[in-house]
Amino acid sequence: MGKNILVFGPNGSGKGTQGAIVQKKFNIPHIESGAIFREHIVGGTELGKKAKEYIDKGDLVPDELTIPMMVARLLKEDCKSGWILDGFPRSKDQAITLAKTLVDNGLALDYVIEIILDRQIAKERIMGRRLCVNDNNHPNHIAFDAIKPVEKDGKLVCRVCGGELKTRADDQDEEAISKRHNIYYDNVTGTMAAVNYFKEVKGPKVISVDGSTSIGAVTEAIMKEL
Ligand code: AMP
Repeated sequence: MGKNILVFGPNGSGKGTQGAIVQKKFNIPHIESGAIFREHIVGGTELGKKAKEYIDKGDLVPDELTIPMMVARLLKEDCKSGWILDGFPRSKDQAITLAKTLVDNGLALDYVIEIILDRQIAKERIMGRRLCVNDNNHPNHIAFDAIKPVEKDGKLVCRVCGGELKTRADDQDEEAISKRHNIYYDNVTGTMAAVNYFKEVKGPKVISVDGSTSIGAVTEAIMKEL
């Protein structure tokens, strides 16, 4: 049976890293809303141009752009055997829309993973992460031995494939980080409200894990429950 999974956690909590591990283990697509937007930006699409102004500031991209893009992605052929969704939903409204879309399409939500992490630690982690230009699922972080980039010709490169590493503009901008965290920790309309919504509805199994331990310990805590 396929596994349909949502993963929540503040930006910097390691949810992308864990998502990539779950993707490999169950051979299901790891669908990251932020990464899809960044592909659109790199590709110079109309959607990318519109989304960029919001993303650079750390604001949410409007639902009229985000929701259709994510629903279309979830209905693709490769999602038939399961998926892990990361970065969407990010608000209570998006959570309600997603839940309705799943019901309308006869799809179940099996698991909700919540990685819990203090805001200040999350901020420090964001600033140290690096993106591999070849593959978004190659986690690299300058402060974590397990995923530390390697040095080649005096430059830090991806520890998985040797590819070039980039930082995200919104990861080096404290104001953008703060805005993203304000959205995440908001338990009235924001992402925490979305998490609480899924805790209250019947159906998915909720897995809450402490994100302040090591990458391996978080993986173990998740895998035990999946
Ligand atoms: P992330 O890679 O998850 O940090 O996302 C980067 C940026 O993409 C966010 O700061 C938002 O501007 C935008 N974004 C990603 N997911 C969503 C979403 N579900 N709703 C609105 N904007 C989003």
